[in-house]
Amino acid sequence: MISKKEKLAIDAIATILDRSLSAAPKRKLSSSQVLVIKDIGDLKIFFLNKSSYTIGRNPDNDIQFFSKGVSRHHAILYRQQSSFWIVDGSKTGVPSTNGLTINYQACRTERLKNGDIVNFCSDAYAIFFESDSSPELSSDGEFRRAESFLASQVENRERDFLASSNFLQIIPDLILRIDQNSVILNVKESKERVFSGYGQEIVGKSISACFPMTVAQKLLSSIGAARSSNKKQVFDCEIAENNSRSFCEIQIIPDQDGVCFAIFKNMHSRKSIENKLLHDALHDDLTGLPNRNFFIKRVELSIQRRSNDKEFGFAVLFVDLDRFKVINDSLGHLVGDEFIVHVANRLKDCLRPGDVIARFGGDEFAILINRIDHIDEATLITRRLQVALTKPLTLGGHELIPSASIGVVYSSERYASVNDMLRDADLAMYQAKSAGRSRFEVFDQEMHQKAMNFLVLDSELRQALRRQEFKLFYQPIVSLKNQKLVGFEALIRWFNPNRGMVAPADFIPLAEETELIVALGEWALEEGCRQLSTWHKLAEFDSKLTLNINLSSKQFSSASLTQYIAELLDKYSLCSKSLKLEITESIIMENSQFSIDIFHRLRELGVQICIDDFGTGYSSLSYLHRFPIDALKIDRSFVLAMDESSQNTGFAIAQSVVGLAHNLGVKVVAEGIENARHLVWLRSFQCDYGQGYFFAKPLNAEQATALIKGELGWSYTQKAYCQLQK
Ligand code: C2E
Ligand code: MG
Ligand code: MG
Repeated sequence: MISKKEKLAIDAIATILDRSLSAAPKRKLSSSQVLVIKDIGDLKIFFLNKSSYTIGRNPDNDIQFFSKGVSRHHAILYRQQSSFWIVDGSKTGVPSTNGLTINYQACRTERLKNGDIVNFCSDAYAIFFESDSSPELSSDGEFRRAESFLASQVENRERDFLASSNFLQIIPDLILRIDQNSVILNVKESKERVFSGYGQEIVGKSISACFPMTVAQKLLSSIGAARSSNKKQVFDCEIAENNSRSFCEIQIIPDQDGVCFAIFKNMHSRKSIENKLLHDALHDDLTGLPNRNFFIKRVELSIQRRSNDKEFGFAVLFVDLDRFKVINDSLGHLVGDEFIVHVANRLKDCLRPGDVIARFGGDEFAILINRIDHIDEATLITRRLQVALTKPLTLGGHELIPSASIGVVYSSERYASVNDMLRDADLAMYQAKSAGRSRFEVFDQEMHQKAMNFLVLDSELRQALRRQEFKLFYQPIVSLKNQKLVGFEALIRWFNPNRGMVAPADFIPLAEETELIVALGEWALEEGCRQLSTWHKLAEFDSKLTLNINLSSKQFSSASLTQYIAELLDKYSLCSKSLKLEITESIIMENSQFSIDIFHRLRELGVQICIDDFGTGYSSLSYLHRFPIDALKIDRSFVLAMDESSQNTGFAIAQSVVGLAHNLGVKVVAEGIENARHLVWLRSFQCDYGQGYFFAKPLNAEQATALIKGELGWSYTQKAYCQLQK
């Protein structure tokens, strides 16, 4: 049998010869049939022009071998019509000692076909090539040049291939050489039926043009990962073959200058399929890491071990990537997948051999750190993971900084089940995320208590919706030019029999984590629209009064939002311009792809959109300009930060936001105007509208109605302002 290394060299030669024989019109060859022989490390090429050849170790043979395993007169090659046949033994009919194998099958006589491998013994073999075209010999000199060119090509390529040790680890079936633009440079065809569609005709084509989309996507993302990590990537996929599908393993091996090899292995044997299925049941498709099932089994073992040996300590880490959704939505799933593979590799590289890292799906990973004596060891490893993660990563031309929020839980007698440990690690991770991401938290009992309180609150909130315990309050929004009321912002309040009045900050974040916010948000929209239509019907007041309603992220990304609002406007006969929706910057960023679409649909409806709490998120005005917005609300923290000193940063921020927004044709509302000084300053910056305790706190519906009717003056503020003007 030939070795893997040799097999690979043969494959390399096949590719080169194939190309040289069928392409390159300048290099005309004297024969369209060639025998390449490998003999104790020596490589020779014979262009088969004669009608017969003898092959053997004796010097009187046409083709002489030196290997001891080759018989003195081992075989005969003869031409019949245009084909070559090989026959075992001498001209006198004496069979060879070791016999012949063709493509690893013993044989006595065989018509040779392109690519056939003929073995004479373990270290001597030949490979037969023929091309369809029959180039002609034009001159002897040209023939020699062609021959030496071919020989040098073969030898160079063989050296290249032998040097690529990664590549040599595999016995390949179908091999593609792919350039930096994902175009196929060479094909080493495979005899497997499943790869029959991938012959030389795919050379020069792009990956996406040759493979079905699902396979092409996986290929491209692994090629990207292989290139940037310079590491072999392995994944599985199914390739369709007529009406059936074949299970293939694909390896991507990076070469130089962005070139990669893709090696397709058909997992045809039953055993490999069984192994594959078993492997798949316990591993993640994209990263090849163990999956949740595998992880659970390993943690179970650790728990068991600890119950027998109290000295045995271990930790479970729950890792959740920060802002992965933004990457996925803005750069596409292909880059998203590549990102996950990179992160998985980085995490894996930080761990010791006995530790286990698993992908739980999406952007979630879990890590089991075994054999530690103290929680500090786990936190040390966690820090190391976070440092390794946050190195910049360039994907699809974008520089990304991965980061993760990690929850850590340490083994203790309390944990008899994996689920409990995972639950607490998840909770700790969640704490890390809400404390600002890219950090870790170690689980403690207090966290557990908080989580329990959370649960109670959740069930109370659900009850509250049924019992109609919510109310909208309305905070006036005033034109800073003439102090006139232009509208209100609707702010939700919860009146609970036991808790009293609960502010939104104490329940909105929880409702946002559950689907509850959608129902709550719909209620607020309906109640707000109903109230606004009542006000519009008040004869004393003109119907320009507007109402701002806050939208949460889940509501904003709900597909039915526009439809729901259109129905409400219709139901309450409201002019769409009188409704303004407030969303925060982070909502746009989290849904950037999707947002533009929704913005346009809401715009078509005529509804206005304001960016709430502007300046506290991480977007920029230039970015926001891509979205059709009507107003910005300067976050109250900037307004409150304005004080007497003119060097104050709040002052500078408020002023520049107004200037920039006006340049972009967007109105500005200042939140949190608490005193007359704020008002004077904001007016001097030409800020359009204001809202804050200086004018009025959020009022209940009756108070707001009285204010509209002029029954409840805000004379106290007016007076203060007039005094200031004097
Ligand atoms: P927001 O939309 O930025 O609302 C402004 C918040 O600032 C309100 O707090 C308001 O009472 C407060 N505020 C107004 N003027 C002043 C002032 O001069 N000084 C100070 N210190 N605060 C002032 P509130 O009502 O507690 O609401 C907090 C947040 O809860 C809101 O911030 C909004 O994000 C959210 N929220 C309120 N109602 C809803 C709702 O119906 N749906 C959703 N999704 N979120 C809501
Ligand atoms: Mg708001
Ligand atoms: Mg706000």
